[in-house]
Amino acid sequence: MSLLDWSFGMKELADGVFAYVQPNGPHGNAGYSNAGLIVGDDYCAVVDTLGTRSMQQGFHDAIKRVTSKPVSRVLLTHHHADHVFGVKRFMPACVIAHRACRNHMVQAGQGDVQRWARKRPFFAPDLEGIEVVYPDLTFDDQVTLHLGAHEVKFFHPGVAHTDGDAVAWLPATKILFAGDLFFNRVCPAAFAGSLQGWIRAVKDILQLDVDVIVPGHGPVAGKPELRRMLDYLELILAHARVGFLANTEPEAVAHEMPLGELREWADTEERLLEDIRRAYAGFQAETASGA
Ligand SMILES: [Zn+2]
Repeated sequence: MSLLDWSFGMKELADGVFAYVQPNGPHGNAGYSNAGLIVGDDYCAVVDTLGTRSMQQGFHDAIKRVTSKPVSRVLLTHHHADHVFGVKRFMPACVIAHRACRNHMVQAGQGDVQRWARKRPFFAPDLEGIEVVYPDLTFDDQVTLHLGAHEVKFFHPGVAHTDGDAVAWLPATKILFAGDLFFNRVCPAAFAGSLQGWIRAVKDILQLDVDVIVPGHGPVAGKPELRRMLDYLELILAHARVGFLANTEPEAVAHEMPLGELREWADTEERLLEDIRRAYAGFQAETASGA
């Protein structure tokens, strides 16, 4: 498998470790997330569960084609709809997430399905009947799963894409499921977390002994591609800082920022302004705390 292959479907990364990849849809990349599957001796774990019913069904069918073992553990990388709406399909699995991820899901409740349908109307018919299921096992820092030969370190990298992010690291096979800490060839969306925290978290991840990184969105890749996304986050932060100090409106910063290869990435137009606003929020918090 070429690491830059962005084709649809289940990809075997190592013995019993798979990434399930979805390319962009007709409306861009939003909602077209990836998931993962780790096959143990007696049962499996999935990493995220996708969003719409047809996407969930596709993942479910793909799992059945590679293993007959039941999925008994569901790891959620964060609370966003395109990662958590498919949990119900894996019941009665144990659903594991960071404490803040669960809190967000409980706060949003069942109404999150209608909210997402309003925000992305083209998905609405494919969201009907979805029942949100909350995690039943939460952690603050890290939990380690032992799935046959696979040790899975599922840990919170700090506040990054959201305040309840978790990534799944398999040290023996040097594979990392990064959730939305990694958008590959897709503009990262920082609307829910901290741009500054995200940069710190990615720098930490780049220190891990990892060869293959499964992004929340985009093709499976490795550290060079994650570094490229980091460059983008740092570029935004630098431009946002200049704009913030000069009292420039975020819209003007977004308009004037040189985009380079970002222009080719999915959803840049929609997300750049949100990312700059999130950077401003971080600067405001720093100013307020006297940092
Ligand atoms: Zn997300």
